[in-house]
Amino acid sequence: MNALKKLQTVGKWLILTLSPLLLPAFEAPYESTVVHDRSYYEQRGDVMWEVPIEEKLIALTFDDGPSFDLTPQILDVLKQYDAKATFFVLGNRIDRHKDIVLREVMEGHEIGNHTFNHAFFNHHLSKNRISREIETTKRKLKEVAGVDSPWFRPPGGYYNDSVIEAAKESGYTVILWSWHQDTEDWKSPGVEAIVNKVLNNVRNGDIVLMHDNVMHSHQTVDALKIILPELKARGYKFVTISELVEQKYRWDELDYFQYE
Ligand SMILES: [Zn+2]
Repeated sequence: MNALKKLQTVGKWLILTLSPLLLPAFEAPYESTVVHDRSYYEQRGDVMWEVPIEEKLIALTFDDGPSFDLTPQILDVLKQYDAKATFFVLGNRIDRHKDIVLREVMEGHEIGNHTFNHAFFNHHLSKNRISREIETTKRKLKEVAGVDSPWFRPPGGYYNDSVIEAAKESGYTVILWSWHQDTEDWKSPGVEAIVNKVLNNVRNGDIVLMHDNVMHSHQTVDALKIILPELKARGYKFVTISELVEQKYRWDELDYFQYE
């Protein structure tokens, strides 16, 4: 009995003494949830919030679709004003709305990846899980519409080193949005609020965040009917993320040659 007690005491002592040494090993997976500040990712080209540029170009982006109701209406308004946009689609909606995805492509818009299940990466998920969310949508887009793009937008804008790494491994750069162009249209704040947010803050190279899948709300479409003609009159052109980035590179090259 005494020997057993002694063994238990030694065992307890060992656990207490060694546990701080073992802890980092158990915590290791959580290191991946590290988030650096914006400039860290921006300088490395890992994440883009906007593309400061001299030309009057704007990238409108629509998340969470396609939706049977809202997306076609948005496409109609975009067409009316000769505007191109980027749709960050959800993989689990692609099969149900193949024709809409195809229409987006046919009409010159760009399709980005917004995960399969609208997964939020604000808590720990293994890189494998994150990759699965990204890859299943990537495959679906290829299979259904034959398209791919270099852009991935994590739902809710939640990212960390693992998300960025997983996106990179699938060939994507993480795209967020201009902080002053978060329309919050998913909350149905009223057409005027959406319109004012965009028109009062607009800058060249902005990436505007909107949604083409908001339950029982047409505010996004109604706001676009005001925003598009107004910005067009101010001389703005609506382009896809790729067009915006390409244009930026062209400017950078020009600068480079001028100063060489
Ligand atoms: Zn979303």
